[in-house]
Amino acid sequence: ATPTSIMAGSGRAAEMGVLFKGGEHLENTRTIQTIVLDKTGTVTKGEPELTDVHVVSGEEENVLALVGGAEKHSEHPLAQAIVHGIKQRHITIPEPEQFSALPGFGVEAQVDGKTLYVGTRKLMKQHNIAVEAVEEKMASLETEGKTAMLIAIDNELAGLVAVADTVKETSKAAIARMKSLGLEVIMLTGDNEKTATAIGNQVGIDRVIAEVVPEQKADEIKKLQLEGKKVAMVGDGMNDAPALAVADIGMAIGTGTDVAIEAADVTLMRGDLQSVADSIQISEKTMRNIK
Ligand code: ADP
Ligand code: MG
Repeated sequence: ATPTSIMAGSGRAAEMGVLFKGGEHLENTRTIQTIVLDKTGTVTKGEPELTDVHVVSGEEENVLALVGGAEKHSEHPLAQAIVHGIKQRHITIPEPEQFSALPGFGVEAQVDGKTLYVGTRKLMKQHNIAVEAVEEKMASLETEGKTAMLIAIDNELAGLVAVADTVKETSKAAIARMKSLGLEVIMLTGDNEKTATAIGNQVGIDRVIAEVVPEQKADEIKKLQLEGKKVAMVGDGMNDAPALAVADIGMAIGTGTDVAIEAADVTLMRGDLQSVADSIQISEKTMRNIK
């Protein structure tokens, strides 16, 4: 590859909002066979909204106030959606006495002298909290593509809250284009299987790897590489950084976190998935001109 043609290719890519960090990435992108997409903030807008509250024990307003206290110091987009929704209901949110984020699972906090857990089924299981009372409700919300989070107060199930995050307008067409280029498209998420499958169906992704905790995202990429595949990972979150670094090509959504952008080989400034197909086509064109 001549430096001149690589430079020209990089320039063309930049005009389309695709920033390659080095010439070697522009060369290698065309060899990608499998595209792994993070869900939240990559396939979806990453602006979840609180849509459902289902309380099975206690006063709804009290439960929501405690949940707000537990989530108010979490930086997770889900937490921000929950807190925003609770504020919109004109409920005063107390300051927690204690707070810890449990990445991939939820949060643990001490609020008004009570122990709160808000998060996944696995989080409840870890604390032996029975969830049967809301299991059916939870499953039906997840089938709609919503993320439902369980609430426990002093080791007893209090109910759940659900948030919905809509898919980006361009995701479906972009994924169809990736498939037409012969690429395998997989979605990788920490969210549960049902929600992930519902979102996958909305955008035409048939293979979903769900319930993957942040530390395991990179391992899932390595597994695909062991199958002999050249893998590109596309993500926006702090959680995605190790997977972006391990992938043959890491692509960060330009509107995403700095950590993701730093770990990636390519930045997609437009923030939509059409740029994934663009970058592969630019790489092919550039290398074809060289040969
Ligand atoms: P994603 O890969 O979609 O960004 P994460 O790995 O960050 O997901 O989180 C996985 C799951 O853990 C979420 O779908 C949610 O159920 C739960 N979770 C994470 N953070 C929180 C939080 N602050 N409050 C409640 N639940 C949470
Ligand atoms: Mg994300």
